[in-house]
Amino acid sequence: MTAELISVGTEILLGNIVNTNAQYLAKKLADLGIEVYYQTVVGDNPERIRSALDIAYSRAQMVILTGGLGPTKDDLTKEMLISYFGKKPVLDQTAYEMLEQHLKELDVPMSDGLRKQAIVPDDSMILYNHHGTAPGCIMEQDGKVCILLPGPPKEMKPMFEECCERYLNGIRDKVFVSMNIKMLDFDHAPVAVVGEAPVADALGELLDSENPTVATYAKDDGCLIRVTASAADREEALALANAMVEKCRAILKEEYIRYIREDT
Ligand code: ATP
Repeated sequence: MTAELISVGTEILLGNIVNTNAQYLAKKLADLGIEVYYQTVVGDNPERIRSALDIAYSRAQMVILTGGLGPTKDDLTKEMLISYFGKKPVLDQTAYEMLEQHLKELDVPMSDGLRKQAIVPDDSMILYNHHGTAPGCIMEQDGKVCILLPGPPKEMKPMFEECCERYLNGIRDKVFVSMNIKMLDFDHAPVAVVGEAPVADALGELLDSENPTVATYAKDDGCLIRVTASAADREEALALANAMVEKCRAILKEEYIRYIREDT
């Protein structure tokens, strides 16, 4: 299963906010064994959101969008998706009652704009928002999956953890396990041994392996090697990763390794 992330928000394009949602979701999806080859950032513009969706669905079965669920005029992701999937906009009674309760606590009167947040696509799974007002949703259509989440990270993360992870666990076809091998820092070992280039040279053909993959990363304090295996279950993936870690260890000198541990 491959997925793409679309982060909606002109604020991100202008550099006013950092796209931490994409970072968070990319890590979560990698942990779940769902491959992500592309991420897109698009402004609050319906035509450009539509075109980002067309491109994403030409490459992946699942798209996860964040942002643009709120009550203001520029929050138009949901309306765009309702039209994209040919759904009907319907008022979700539970979301409406939750919204009413939330507004009561804040002593804010209901308005048409606020009510808009309880409008959802018909025939979709509603993800209730216990940390804000706009619900998210999951739509499945013609083999495509679309997950829509709110922009604010304090709403998006719990919604993902409370609702989406279980859903994704049900549809994913493999899991990934990554092991990190960290070489010593430069104060404790020669750069000619623990720098990225010499480590990569030493690992040689192991870097071309496909499952597990082996990759080197230059860090400020010495090279990191990441071994990533995928399999039908965690145990099998862990066994594959550990076997490759042993191959790397046989090449790297033990005294230059700082630690070996699972990437969490
Ligand atoms: P709201 O109800 O707050 O309008 P929303 O779902 O419409 O929620 P946006 O209006 O797109 O979300 O963004 C609201 C705020 O959420 C932004 O101002 C920003 O602080 C945060 N936010 C949105 N997208 C991201 C992102 N990709 N990464 C980090 N923060 C984000």
